[in-house]
Amino acid sequence: MRLGFNDMSRYNRITVLNLIRRNVSISRSELAEKTGLTPPSISRITKELMERDLIIESGVGESNVGRKPIMMEFNESSRSIIGLDLRPDHINGVITNLSPQILKKYENDFDINLPPKKILNICRNFLNNILEDVKEIAPLLGVGIVLPGVVDIDKGELTYSAPMGWSKVDIKSSFKEILPDIPFRIDNLAHAVALGEKWLKHDKERDDFVYVYVGKGIGAGIIANGQIYHGSEYNAAEIGHSTINFNGPLCSCGNRGCLETYCSTKVLQSNIENKLDITIKREEELWEILNSNEKKVNEVIEEALDYLGIGIANLINTLNPEKIIIGGWPQKVGYNQVLHYLWKVVQKHSMEGLSDNIEVEFSYKDEDVGPLLGASTLVLEDFLTETAVKN
Ligand SMILES: [Zn+2]
Repeated sequence: MRLGFNDMSRYNRITVLNLIRRNVSISRSELAEKTGLTPPSISRITKELMERDLIIESGVGESNVGRKPIMMEFNESSRSIIGLDLRPDHINGVITNLSPQILKKYENDFDINLPPKKILNICRNFLNNILEDVKEIAPLLGVGIVLPGVVDIDKGELTYSAPMGWSKVDIKSSFKEILPDIPFRIDNLAHAVALGEKWLKHDKERDDFVYVYVGKGIGAGIIANGQIYHGSEYNAAEIGHSTINFNGPLCSCGNRGCLETYCSTKVLQSNIENKLDITIKREEELWEILNSNEKKVNEVIEEALDYLGIGIANLINTLNPEKIIIGGWPQKVGYNQVLHYLWKVVQKHSMEGLSDNIEVEFSYKDEDVGPLLGASTLVLEDFLTETAVKN
């Protein structure tokens, strides 16, 4: 494929903008050196980006020869983004800048038994309130929303969600009524968290890693070549329903012995209740017990990690990522033994050579914030690769 003139100039603008964004501060001559573009081209592109308020001149840099260079920075405050995280019993939201950093946070609980239409009404009112606040901050770039389920990102439709109990719900249309001209992005929760991890922590040109979320459900997001890998039906990385034992317990999906039936939060809680002969009433109680470091509790945790490690080793054998990032209950248990134990199981069950250099680490954000930043990043990714630099 040959790139036309317009494609090339857009590609150059994207490259320059992302170089400025990734560097705290950079001069025009450094940009010319890194991109191979001529100094007049760099001057033209940086002028255009400044006119769009996307970069700013930030002061004078150091130089041993000639005039000191003027340094440039990415203007992260020039736009705002709204990120939404919709779950069975609540919707949370944030306003972020272009970093994205959270500027304001919002929460709204609702009855888990309400029908989708009523919940979407609540969500629209919730978004309307945030839109009022955004006006005071910076022009709105777009709204991103994440949900636990299979999402048709092109239609903006939730195809199916076991935790929500929804199927075929048109999310995009119901939000578009109040946002006719604002870009709207929707994606699966784990996919979006993975994208957030990429942009906020692992922002190289090329990244290949998998984010695994272990909570009430188990999901994953694959970042391949720096982008979310969705699969043909947007259903990639449904690791929670990969079979670990075909004679195992019945799963909510109708199959037997899925990974989820061995190490979800629900299963972990019930195993602890059985082993300690207690009843856990609140989630906080579960976290306290999991962090108690008692022998019996640790045995239950290790058993769950044995299964989780096998699920992750299967992912490694299939995808050969450079890194596995873990979120959910293992992160809440938190002490480093969890990560070390899990890493040992992964090493034991993945193919020699594939796991030699693999890193297993916790998500950089906890599960309250990760999905919200992921939702903002959906919008940011679109903007910084297309809209911001379109012809
Ligand atoms: Zn299943």
